[in-house]
Parts: sequence; structure tokens; C-alpha cells
Amino acid sequence: MIPSYFPQGDLVGVLTTQPLDRLLDYKAPEGGCHLGAFVEVPLGPRKVLGVVWGPGQGDYDSAKIRSVIRVLDLAPMRDEMRDFLIRAADYTLTPMPAMLRLGTRAPGLGDAPSMRKVYRLGTRDPDRKTAARDKVLAVLRDYGGLAFTLGELADAADVGTSVVKGLVAQGAVLEEDAPRDVPYPPLDPDHGGKALNPDQAVGADALRAALRKEGYGTTLLKGVTGSGKTEVYLEAVAECLRMGKQALVLLPEIALSGEFIERVEARFGMRPAEWHSGVTMTERRRCFRMVGQGDAQLVVGARSALFLPFRNLGLIVVDEEHDTSYKQEDGVLYNARDMAVLRAALCGAQVVLASATPSLESWANAQAGKYARLDLTARFGAAVMPEMAAIDMRVEELPHGRWVSPTLRDAIANRLEKGEQSLIFLNRRGYAPVTLCRACGHQIGCDHCDARMVEHRFQKRLMCHQCGETKPIPVICPSCGAADKLAAVGPGVERMGEEVAALFPTARIAVLSSDLYGSARAMKAHIAEIAQGGTDIIIGTQLVAKGHNFPLLTLVGVIDADLGLQGSDLRAAERTFQLMRQVAGRAGRAAIPGAALLQTYQPDHPVIRAILNGDEESFWSAEAAERRGAGVPPYGRMAGIILSGPDLKAVFDLGNDMARRDGPLRQIGAQVFGPAPAPIARVRGKHRVRLLVKADKSAPLQAALAQWVAQFRLPANLRLAIDIDPQSFY
Ligand code: ADP
Ligand code: ZN
Repeated sequence: MIPSYFPQGDLVGVLTTQPLDRLLDYKAPEGGCHLGAFVEVPLGPRKVLGVVWGPGQGDYDSAKIRSVIRVLDLAPMRDEMRDFLIRAADYTLTPMPAMLRLGTRAPGLGDAPSMRKVYRLGTRDPDRKTAARDKVLAVLRDYGGLAFTLGELADAADVGTSVVKGLVAQGAVLEEDAPRDVPYPPLDPDHGGKALNPDQAVGADALRAALRKEGYGTTLLKGVTGSGKTEVYLEAVAECLRMGKQALVLLPEIALSGEFIERVEARFGMRPAEWHSGVTMTERRRCFRMVGQGDAQLVVGARSALFLPFRNLGLIVVDEEHDTSYKQEDGVLYNARDMAVLRAALCGAQVVLASATPSLESWANAQAGKYARLDLTARFGAAVMPEMAAIDMRVEELPHGRWVSPTLRDAIANRLEKGEQSLIFLNRRGYAPVTLCRACGHQIGCDHCDARMVEHRFQKRLMCHQCGETKPIPVICPSCGAADKLAAVGPGVERMGEEVAALFPTARIAVLSSDLYGSARAMKAHIAEIAQGGTDIIIGTQLVAKGHNFPLLTLVGVIDADLGLQGSDLRAAERTFQLMRQVAGRAGRAAIPGAALLQTYQPDHPVIRAILNGDEESFWSAEAAERRGAGVPPYGRMAGIILSGPDLKAVFDLGNDMARRDGPLRQIGAQVFGPAPAPIARVRGKHRVRLLVKADKSAPLQAALAQWVAQFRLPANLRLAIDIDPQSFY
């Protein structure tokens, strides 16, 4: 038995956030410390954050062992959380310190509770307007009532602190003494529930019953966009709150809008705790502490909220569970959807996975009976699913360099006449994907990556979508020196904006693309304005496919439905299916029925056909049969190994060596493919080579991978990353 308390002077083993491969021994400080306590410990000349993980090893010279500096004023990490971090680390083959960093991602955790000054929007106008003052006031308005510290506010507005002080003196900004980290106001589960339709009522009953059983379980909640899934899972949240347990609702970062928070507030009477990139550091710290001591009942957050130290978690909702952004693609490579299920299994909580177009993984788990499944079949109220049709581009007459077909143009014109909104969807940021020299054929590429530079005319620059590098748009070809021969080739959303403006000169047009906004808040504000009817024609990337409500929208036109079908990605069909169904689902959410038109050169492609006829079950069955035949996820297991380094030969040599010495993998019947250049073979000047490991579903893949990788000593400039269940094959 591990003791739960260590009196002063006892040896404790501390896991720190520093990249060391073992626990460090310290002496418990004055007053002792609990198992799981968050502590500050000396490491060389520094003080670092750690957690008391167990008794010390005692294999060090005890005279040299130093004492824990102090125990932080935070609820100790619970056993189940430590378990979760260990299991998540084992699953993703992540070192524990990196895992602990995920579990301690709030600033100033060690600061003592005390009063501090916070700043809010005041009621008076300043005597004199300046650009700097306007920036401060805009930030305060943007964040709708949230409190800032002086430093945070000045940083967010990009002004000096004296500007804020000046506004305080004028009464335009209020300075208040506030206690740090106050509890979140209690939520009332019976405040604003809606009367449910019969489908919804069945769903809500089932979820409530599952919660009452007090144990782990996962339910797939499937229903088209607008069918009322949110209302149903909020009923499950309500039940969870009634039981005195905590709930977590995860959304893709991009869907975490003020609109959603207001909806939760309307349901429960108070705002929930929020955890995402749009909240201030002060609020994040408060959230972390309050979750730990049970003074936050509901957290609405992005994927990393999963690592908050909940006290008694009863329910995790993963909304838009198919969304690829749940997979973290750098640092710790984890899929928040899968980790949510793991966490719930460890603490006996319920999981609800909500989606209109579930991932094949979740669909298969429901098929196999591992997950319960609930279906909402109709849209809520009068709204019906849009009518879907293909526009066969092989027969449309289009001049060179134009992308809106006559059929689509007529449909948009028709909506304009009726005062309804249209959405033109193209999943390509920027103006044009290729800049080509008409004299020599040279295409402008990134200096650091094997990728073409994308023209962003709005920003007047070329940009690499791999590394973010930008350069001015050249007038002279860097290859042959010809002047004025460089041409933009292919469409991006900015270019679509031009074409549509030329077709409909009097229409109000908005181009929605994440890179056109200074901040996530500004983007969300613009989306809200569009939803109110501020625009006739919206042109957007997949940003618009994600959870936004455009009630006046009745037409969706997809410029290139074939785009996602190219490439060798195992999930290409699934992704295209999901994305097209999601985008189409944007149309006709209110009383007016909508239509979705897909421009395609392959109207008979099985995926395009499945999208059009909406027969989802047969699409999934067919896709499942194909994957089962190939022994790939979810019917087999895969791991990607990415090796990268500055010297191509060294990277390949290591890759070949690894492929040759695959004993531990062969023992479990796994196969190694590669090494091959990664699809983007060079990023930021580093060459990238990929190996792919494929194993049976039941094979102990992680243990074998760990053994395999341990055989190799990596030179300092080579990096190896293991990606379990890779989602993208970059
Ligand atoms: P989904 O999450 O499936 O996209 P929502 O829960 O957002 O669907 O519901 C779509 C719309 O219908 C929302 O505006 C929501 O407020 C409304 N709605 C859903 N269920 C009800 C209900 N039972 N009573 C009143 N309005 C509802
Ligand atoms: Zn680049």
C-alpha cells in the first residue's frame, strides 16, 4: 500500500515536468505532504513544478537529498488522475513529464490566494480618443465582461500599462480589488430546460438512466445537424449536476463560440467555466483550481480540458466527435475523443459522443455493441435536410480561370432575389494555390519545405501552409528572371470572392477564412453578424462547416467536391463524406428548406453518390467492409513513425536500420512499411521520413513499439515521433 501522507523528513518520489526519465527523491517539507500534492522542488539552481508520486527510492546519498520547497495551495492530484496520466502515456508512448505538463497547463499555479487588481469595462467615455485607448476598450468589449489583470490587458491590446492606467483615471476602465480564483456560481439543472420532442425525450431518458447506474459507459448520439443533439446532451449534463457530479463538454476550438456559452447559460442560469484559447490566463488558473476543489460544476472547453483535475467527474460530452482537431498533432500526439473514453472508464463516468457524421471508429464500436447508440432522425421543428444534387462539371460551360458553373450561378441569383443567403464552399485558404511562371514553368515553392507557396492577395504575400513562412509576391521569376510572367493558378477562397463579386456586383459578400482575422474573437464576432443576415453570399473554408448557425442560409454550393478524394489517405472517403454532409447541413436550418449543389467531375464516384443519396448506413457499411478487408483501423492497428533531421541520408539510414531490426514487432505479427519520404518530405528545412507499422487489433502494439525503438540510439540532431492511430499522414 502506498501511504497517502508523508510526514516531514520522509522521502518522497516526485514526478516533475522536466524531461527526466525517472522520479526524483526529496524530503517531505515541514507539515508533511500528501500523495499527489503539487509541490515546488529544487532542481540544480532552479525551482520546478512536480507532483508527489509515491515514496522515495532511497538509493541516493541521503545527506544530498534536498527538501521539497513548498506544497502548493491546490487540491492534491487524485489517484484516478495519476492513473489516467499513466495510462494515457502508455497508450501514446509519451514520457511522463510531458504528460504531466499537459495536466498542469495553467499559469501561476503556485501563486498564493490573495487579492489582486482586475480591470473591466467602465461606463464613461474617455475625454480624448486615441488609437491605443480604442484598442484597450475594444479588447474589453470583445471579451464580454471577463476580468483582466493589468499585464494581461495591456498585452492583449498591445499597449503599455500606462494607457490602461490613463483610462482608469477617466472612469472608462474600472479597477477593482478582486479575490483570486473565486468559485463559479452554482448552475441550476432545472432552470431552462426545453420541452423535448419524442425522439429527443427517448434520448434524454436513456442518457439519464445510464448516468443513474453510476458506472462507465459510452453512447454515440447521432443526428443530423439541427436535430437537437445539443438539447439532449444538456439534459444529461443537468442530470449529472443533480447527482452532484461534475460535467465536461468538449468542442472543437473553432465551435467554442459565445453563442454556445450563451446557450448553456440560458439552460442553467449561469455561465459555466470555460477552458480554451479565448479565455484569459487568469480565468484559466481559476478554472484549474476550482475544478480541483469541486467549485466548478461544468466546464465547456477545448480538447486539453480533458486534463483538468476533476474531483468527481460524472459525464464527458465530446461534441462533433468526428472532428479531426481532437487529434493533437504536435507535442503529445493524443486523440481527445479516445482519451475521453479512457478517462471516463477509469473514473466510472459516462461519455456522450455527438455527431451528425460519426467517425468510422465510433460507428464500428456502436455496431459491435461497445457503445450504446441513440439516433435523432429528423431535424428539430419544421426544418428538413437540404435537397442534394450534383453539378456535372464535364458538361458545364466555363471559361478558363472561372469556377462557378452556370447552374450554380443561377441558383445563387435565385436566392438573391428572394433575400436568402448562399454559401460557397471551397476548402482552400488564400487566393491561389500555385504561382507559376508562364515563361519557364517554374512554380514558387517554400525555401524550407517541399510545398508550394500559396498566394494570399489580401495580405499581399505568398505563404507556406506547412511552416507559415511568408514572402512578398515577386514580380520577377526567381528561376528565369522573366518579368511580369508570374501567374496565379487555381482557386482559393479569396479568388472566389473576386469571381463572385464580378458575377453579383450588388450582393454583399463575405469571405470567411481563419487567416483573414486578427483574433479568434474577431472572427466569431463576424460570424455572428453574418448569421444575423449581414451578408448575402458567404464564401468559406471548412471553418464554416463547423457548428455555426446561419438561419437565413438556404443554398450551399461546393466548388470542388472531388478535392478530398485525391491522395492516398486511408480516411479520404470518410473525410469527404463527413465534410460534404456537414457543409450541406448548413443549409435550411430554419423554416425554409435548403439545397446543396456539389460541383464534381466524378458524379458516379461511390463516395459522391453516397453523399447525394444520404444513405449513411450503407456508406459506413461499405467503408467498414473495405477497411476490414485491408486490416486497417478500426479493424487493425496502426502507428506512424516520423523521423526527421537536417541530413537526408542520415534520416534514411536510421529508417532503413529500423526497418531491418524489426524483431520485437515481428514477434507480435506486426508489419513495418517504409522507410519512405513523408508526404511532405521536407518541413522547416528538416527532411522527414516515415515508417508505418500495421498490426492486428488485439496485438500488444505499444509494448512492442517501445522495445523496438529502444534498440536505437538517436544522434542528437535526429528526431523520432511515434503517432499511435495516425489521423493524417503528413
Ligand atoms: P444539433 O446539436 O443536433 O445541431 P441543436 O440542439 O442545436 O441541434 O438544435 C437545433 C435548433 O433547434 C436549435 O436552435 C435549438 O435551440 C432548437 N431546438 C432543439 N430542440 C428543441 C426543443 N426541444 N425545443 C425548442 N427548440 C429546440
Ligand atoms: Zn515552408
